[in-house]
Amino acid sequence: MRAMVLHTPGQPLRPADLPVPTPGPGQVLVKVAACGICRTDLHVVDGELAEPRLPLVPGHQVVGRVAARGPGVGAPTVGERVGIPWLGGSCGACGYCAEGRENLCEGAVYTGYQRDGGFAEYCLADARFAFPLPPGPGGGGPADDLQAAPLLCAGLIGYRAWRLTLAALPPRAACDVGLYGFGAAAHILCQVARHAGHRVHAFVKPGDDRAAAFALSLGAASALPAGATPDRPLDAAIIFAPVGALVPVALRAVARGGVVTCAGIHMSDIPSFPYADLWHERQLRSVANLTRRDGEEFLALAPRVPVRTTVTPYPLERANEALDDLREGRFEGAAVLVVDPPAAGA
Ligand SMILES: [Zn+2]
Ligand SMILES: [Zn+2]
Repeated sequence: MRAMVLHTPGQPLRPADLPVPTPGPGQVLVKVAACGICRTDLHVVDGELAEPRLPLVPGHQVVGRVAARGPGVGAPTVGERVGIPWLGGSCGACGYCAEGRENLCEGAVYTGYQRDGGFAEYCLADARFAFPLPPGPGGGGPADDLQAAPLLCAGLIGYRAWRLTLAALPPRAACDVGLYGFGAAAHILCQVARHAGHRVHAFVKPGDDRAAAFALSLGAASALPAGATPDRPLDAAIIFAPVGALVPVALRAVARGGVVTCAGIHMSDIPSFPYADLWHERQLRSVANLTRRDGEEFLALAPRVPVRTTVTPYPLERANEALDDLREGRFEGAAVLVVDPPAAGA
């Protein structure tokens, strides 16, 4: 099968012809239709995350169809459309897992990091961690494979960040929420937050007029350069950009009792800041990975919004170009590798 493989972090992926893997007990073999590209893939390829399995097939926003099942798999069935997310499996036995916090499990394995992912024609997944993706409009699922792919990490991590941020605030009909970095995750969360009645304020790289216009086109109430003071204090801010310097900036933009959530897996160092910026019960937190509950909730919610993802497609063999374009911010929304031409509405 065709695949793009990371041999050495810091080096481009190399095309390879690998044997199609055989599903083991509890696993499904998925024929990949599309695989979204996430900033985390960039951190893996650039060597900013320390524990990749090498050689590695990256990619953890996989949309495809079950091609074969290993022993003991009841669901999903062969032919069913599924999504394979970042969380590839957890130990199921530790305290975190027992409390429904499998995203924190120390024995968890991650797709496209410790286990081969979706930058390939086929991909294995633990059947219990693959999400069913029902058919498009009418069937309650996302429209096409390309559009669905960014939901699986950009959408999910944004949703988890959003859910945990709201949980830290008093219940309120409408909040002013700042999104720092308006890429794949923010462009999805902007739609979800607006649907819930909140006002979204996009903060973009100074001078990035294209990102600002994109945010406004998705219904953001304002789009400002990252350091700017919003015209009203924010109730909460979610930082998607991997830039630690945004933490004190966001803390200064939120009202008393406000929450700042860091949603990325990797961030540059956070500069020191005066305690006054945190004072008055402002909260600073991170959000890590996802749970299956997040996936079930979000994938049910997305078609109801409905979330429309903006995708830039690349053929599988051009994965390096897609990663470079993400690094340089050359597109709006999300990049998706087209592995198998998807059937519209399938
Ligand atoms: Zn565990
Ligand atoms: Zn991701």
